[in-house]
Amino acid sequence: MAGIRLEHVYKVYPNGTKAVNDFTMDISDKEFIVFVGPSGCGKSTTLRMIAGLEEISAGNIYIDGKFVNRVEPKDRDVAMVFQNYALYPHMTVYNNMAFALKIRKLSKQEIDQKVRSAAEILGITDYLNTKPKDMSGGQRQRVALGRALVREPKVFLLDEPLSNLDAKLRTAMRSEISKLHRKIQTTFIYVTHDQVEAMTMGTRIVVMKDGFIQQIDTPSNLYNYPCNKFVAGFIGTPQMNFYKANLSCEKEGVRVKLPNTDVNILVPHSCFVKAAKRSLSGEKPVVLGIRSEHLSVDPNAYPYKAKCRVSYVENLGIDSQLYADFNTETEESITDSETKVIIKAPANVRFEEGSIIEVSIDFDNVHLFDAETEQTLLPRVPQSVDVDLAVQKGNARLLGNELTLPAAYDLPDGNYTLKLPVEALLSGGALALNVERTEEVDGKTLAHLRSGDEVVFALCEPSFDPNQGFDIDFRKCSILQNDEVVVPAVPSQNNLPFGVRKYGHGKKAVYKLAIGDGEIDCESYVTQKIVESFGRDAFRLSFRMLLAPDNICVSQEGFNAVVTGVSDFGNYKYLRCDVNGTEVYVQTDNLPIVGEQVCLNVVNTANVHVYSPDIDLLIV
Ligand code: ADP
Repeated sequence: MAGIRLEHVYKVYPNGTKAVNDFTMDISDKEFIVFVGPSGCGKSTTLRMIAGLEEISAGNIYIDGKFVNRVEPKDRDVAMVFQNYALYPHMTVYNNMAFALKIRKLSKQEIDQKVRSAAEILGITDYLNTKPKDMSGGQRQRVALGRALVREPKVFLLDEPLSNLDAKLRTAMRSEISKLHRKIQTTFIYVTHDQVEAMTMGTRIVVMKDGFIQQIDTPSNLYNYPCNKFVAGFIGTPQMNFYKANLSCEKEGVRVKLPNTDVNILVPHSCFVKAAKRSLSGEKPVVLGIRSEHLSVDPNAYPYKAKCRVSYVENLGIDSQLYADFNTETEESITDSETKVIIKAPANVRFEEGSIIEVSIDFDNVHLFDAETEQTLLPRVPQSVDVDLAVQKGNARLLGNELTLPAAYDLPDGNYTLKLPVEALLSGGALALNVERTEEVDGKTLAHLRSGDEVVFALCEPSFDPNQGFDIDFRKCSILQNDEVVVPAVPSQNNLPFGVRKYGHGKKAVYKLAIGDGEIDCESYVTQKIVESFGRDAFRLSFRMLLAPDNICVSQEGFNAVVTGVSDFGNYKYLRCDVNGTEVYVQTDNLPIVGEQVCLNVVNTANVHVYSPDIDLLIV
């Protein structure tokens, strides 16, 4: 039993294929994790890197808290089950299962006990003397599982184990594997391209595409809150209906029109409360997503009606699917139409082909995506909200409250926009805000806070008391005027270029980091890792380090910088410094004068992240 941690794991194959990029995830003990995505998205490569069958190009893997990057597969305490079973055809089931234990030189008695106990769990006791060639696909897959089970591994890795089975057997084996997981209470990682398999088996699912994680979430969150159009389309059958949509903001709500159709619906603002105002104004092209189960052939099921032209009905027994088109005049085939719609309907509904019917849409459950980036515009937790900020004689008016801004904001009188990230709005403080609604989000409470027309969001502990007011961490906010940033947020990480220098040879070699015009000492494992990854090139390339403002300090030695500004947030003060053309923020209590030269150093080089110069690989 073990947890697994993958930290910024990359795989670049020798032919240059970037199969896996920046895979970071914590898997808890006993979880059933599914990696899902289309063929070639990097699922198997990730699994094989965990197993130790594939070398990793960058990043770190820990199993049960132990760093395993350089640990042999056999010593990782993982067992892998493959699609093709990989059984020995000439050996009996018993011997297939006993094989790995014999190699480990376990006593006959121990082997017998383990094989029989695994056979019992999997229901194959009667087949122990049979050879795999005389067994069905499902039975063989059970033997393959048994072979993994007898080893009592900390982690089970399963690579498309059911894809050779027919549909009926797959469904049966799916529940067998879930049962096995519950019984043996071990961490499982399961790779599949089948979203139904993923949704029915995983406690959490990792959706991948082109080597990148798209979303890691529970099955219900993936279904209800897909983070982008790809996940929305990949999860759920039939596929979500997608439409280019024209939106415009009106006083009573948001008007939604679908081009080339009569669809023209005024939806209350509350349906889109989590969307940025700008994305609803019609400035940006958007895609509306509606699942077939959020449409009804009953025009009165929801208050939002639309006409469509019936193409055909597929009766599925328990229910049916109506294929139609919101464009009631189209001659185009339904498969090519951009305005086609699939609607879940009761069993045995009958509609005449070509008839025009009225349906209704559940707008409380629609999805909205940016047409260019394909990211959701209705996130479960809005990352940031733009709010109006009026400044007059040093005093500010924000969300219906009068307040004094920190000294860092030395703003002339005028109207501004404050970009307020959700993590900057904290419960407890002088800001009075009205809690309009709360919802549970992964153990936290998302509070919808209203002031007039404006709604902002705070992610609070479930025990928070709205009467204790709220506070804003202004360091995390930026201020804009006419779409231009006038005060940027304090970056959580500085991005500083550096080189590696070597002095001396062999065991006596000393490595330093060259930053700006100076050099600093460094944790040896950081330089060691860079040299390991880049060989002699390490000494001529320029790397980048990400380090927090409180990880740089004003010091007697290090590298020189010129103070270009001071940001005073009361409890936290920062210097803005120029290091050879790069701006860095330094958290400090002593504030030199702007224009002065200071010497800076890194507080702890173990707390930096190092990136390679060109391909953006995380090295340390
Ligand atoms: P999946 O399991 O999601 O189908 P893989 O992890 O097998 O995807 O492959 C991810 C990508 O890496 C694909 O583009 C594949 O062609 C490529 N790839 C896999 N193995 C190798 C290899 N040994 N050499 C080069 N490219 C590879």
